[in-house]
Amino acid sequence: RPTIGVLALQGDVREHVLALEASGAVAVPVRRESELDGLDGLVIPGGESTTIDKLLRAFELFEPVRRRIRAGLPTFGSCAGMILLADRVLGGIEGQQTLGGLDITVRRNAFGRQVDSFETDLAFEGVPGDPVHAVFIRAPWVEEVGPGAEVLAAVSDGPAAGRIVAVRQGRLLATSFHPEVTGDTRVHRLFVEIVRGAPVPQTADAESAHRA
Ligand code: GLN
Repeated sequence: RPTIGVLALQGDVREHVLALEASGAVAVPVRRESELDGLDGLVIPGGESTTIDKLLRAFELFEPVRRRIRAGLPTFGSCAGMILLADRVLGGIEGQQTLGGLDITVRRNAFGRQVDSFETDLAFEGVPGDPVHAVFIRAPWVEEVGPGAEVLAAVSDGPAAGRIVAVRQGRLLATSFHPEVTGDTRVHRLFVEIVRGAPVPQTADAESAHRA
C-alpha cells in the first residue's frame, strides 16, 4: 500500500486520513520535515489557506514541501489545499504565498455570501459512475487554467454554473470542494491511482531540483 502524508497543521486532517485509509493507502499526519521522507504522496486539507501558509513557514515546512512538489511528489489539495497548490491567487491577503505547482489562477471565497456553503452533484472526469456529490465551504473556484492543467469538473447549474472546481496537472490534483466529508471515496481513490502510477520521488532529486 502506498504511504500518503496528510499535512496536519490545520484543517480537516482526520477526514482525509480516514478517506485515504478506505482507499487502499496508509495515511500518516505530517507536522515536521522528517515526516516527509519516504512518502509516496501528500494531501493538503481544507481549512484556511492563509493560516496554513503561515504555519508552513513557522514549522519550516514551506520550502521542503514546495521542493518535493516540484520534484514530482503526487499531491492532492482540497479547498484551502487547492489554493496552496495554485500558482496564482486572487482575493488573497497581503503577503499570502502559495506552494504552487498547478498552472491555475484561483479566486478565494469565490462563491460569495449567498452561496458561502452549498452542495451540488458534479460530473467528474476520471471518476466513473454516479456524479460526485460535492460539498463547498467558503470555497475557491478556478478562474483561469493554464495550458499545463486539465479541467476535471465544473459546476453544472445554479448561479455558479460553469465554474471550474477540479483540476489535474500530472501528479497534482485539486478540488474546490471537500470529497473527504461525504463518505464517497472515489476522488481519494483517483488520487491513490495517481500515486500508484508515479515513481517514488527521491529526496536527492528534490535537492537537485531545488538547486537547479
Ligand atoms: N476560504 C478558505 C481559504 O481561503 C478555504 C475554505 C476551506 O478550505 N473550506 O483558505
